[in-house]
Amino acid sequence: MYVVCEQHLERAIDEFVEVYDSPPDLYLLDKVSFTDWTAPSTCDFCTVPPKYLVV
Ligand SMILES: [Zn+2]
Repeated sequence: MYVVCEQHLERAIDEFVEVYDSPPDLYLLDKVSFTDWTAPSTCDFCTVPPKYLVV
């Protein structure tokens, strides 16, 4: 699972496909909420607030 900003979305998708050998589902972070999970405050690849969830 990746939590990424707009700039790193493509990189997250590439890595996901490489690891799991199938395309990920994309979600806009502000459109999803999980009861027992809080989105990290920074992108997995840089320090800006993330925008997408790649799972
Ligand atoms: Zn980023």
